[in-house]
Parts: sequence; structure tokens; C-alpha cells
Amino acid sequence: MAEKTLFQRIADREIPAQIVYEDDWCVAFRDISPQAPTHVLVVPRKPVPTLDDLEDADAEVMGRVLLAARNVARQEGLSGGWRAVINCGPDAQQTVFHVHLHLLGGRRFTWPPG
Ligand code: AMP
Repeated sequence: MAEKTLFQRIADREIPAQIVYEDDWCVAFRDISPQAPTHVLVVPRKPVPTLDDLEDADAEVMGRVLLAARNVARQEGLSGGWRAVINCGPDAQQTVFHVHLHLLGGRRFTWPPG
């Protein structure tokens, strides 16, 4: 069996994290190095390494990630808006190879991103 990813180990409570939400498809926890007052990572339980690795059959997985992000945003009271970011691969500076959505909120963001 493949070695678990860092985020699978968090989902399985083998590594501590501040888990704020979970459902059958996803787990969400606070980023260890927050870039905004709210910075939560929404992670599918399925350990797809990057967006490039998604298959057609993963459509529901990623739909559930977006719905979980919406649920967390509501829970966090981000009524003024929030940002969703998914880094894919080295140019985007992805560092953990288990797909995850950064949910950022609680401050006003600029565009374009760095
Ligand atoms: P990315 O660069 O898009 O792959 O994002 C990985 C994110 O995981 C970074 O924002 C890290 O701060 C975060 N991170 C790494 N290790 C942990 C951890 N043990 N608990 C929570 N967040 C983490």
C-alpha cells in the first residue's frame, strides 16, 4: 500500500491539526502558516496528488471540495467574501502533493496574486 500523505495522516488523527470541518468526502483544518485571518485547507479524503492527476471519475470529489469550502466559509462567517486557491505543481509552488483548496478570508485581497 502507498505511504499515506501528510494530509491523510491529519485526517486519520495521526498528526495533530485544528480540524474545523469534515464530511464523508473531505476534511478541513487550519493552515499551520496562515496567510489571512482565516486560512483553512479543504482536502478530499481521496489522495489525488495534483489537479493534473484528476480523472473524469473525480468530478464528484472536487465538487464536494467546493461545497465543503462553502460550508466552512459560512461557518467562519466570511460574509464579505473569500478566496479559493488550488496550487498545482512546481510553478504554482505546490508543496504538499495531496490536492487541497486554500480557503482564505477575513481580509481584503489584491489581484493579480503573486
Ligand atoms: P501548497 O503549497 O499549496 O501545497 O500548500 C501546502 C500548505 O500546507 C501550506 O500552506 C502549509 O502551510 C500547509 N501545511 C503544511 N504542513 C501542515 C500541517 N502539518 N498542518 C497544517 N497545514 C500544513
